[in-house]
Amino acid sequence: MKIKVLKNILSANDQRAQENHELFDGHKICAINITASPGAGKTSTIMAAIRALKGEIGIGVIEGDISSSIDAEAVSKEGIPAVQINTGGACHLDATMLSNAFDSLPLAEIDLLFIENVGNLICPASFALGEHKKVLIASVPEGDDKPYKYPVMFNQSDLVILNKIDLLPYVKFDRQRFIDAVRGLNKNATIIEISCTTGEGIERWLEWLATTIDDSRE
Ligand code: MG
Ligand code: ZN
Repeated sequence: MKIKVLKNILSANDQRAQENHELFDGHKICAINITASPGAGKTSTIMAAIRALKGEIGIGVIEGDISSSIDAEAVSKEGIPAVQINTGGACHLDATMLSNAFDSLPLAEIDLLFIENVGNLICPASFALGEHKKVLIASVPEGDDKPYKYPVMFNQSDLVILNKIDLLPYVKFDRQRFIDAVRGLNKNATIIEISCTTGEGIERWLEWLATTIDDSRE
């Protein structure tokens, strides 16, 4: 019986996610669902894009965290509309939580919406939000074994970012082992290596975003 209940929850979520997706398309918003374990650099990676693109396109951010508004405050300081969703203990965002945030955003002015999911490499994979693309950020200090341990998240992502590559000389991390693992799980994902600290690779992240925004409008 437990399995049946879970099925119902997922299909209700999928229904709401579809409505979210239609709302995004109606407003010509490209929505990106960003997942990672805590501390991988989700906010830093979003901030790097904001600093490069604000003024050129309309950006909005929805921040998902179990508690606090630290990340939304950081984004607001850049002059970008941001909404903080506190999940109150839930370890992922769902489509209904997301839709509750829409009233607080100037949707007509937004071209690119970053949705920063709760830091967690497990259950965000099970909850569609209505996004156009899923991005997974892994980071060098976490180790090269994360794709082997959390295959579903890596399998579902359109873009895998490896962050903190400036730490490669100091940390035991086999780049090729990591890339081979991602490729083994997901032949189609783009893989980009970056450092939010040095700025290395950020240009490729911006190029991926530009292409993704164009594709979402077709
Ligand atoms: Mg964050
Ligand atoms: Zn969860």
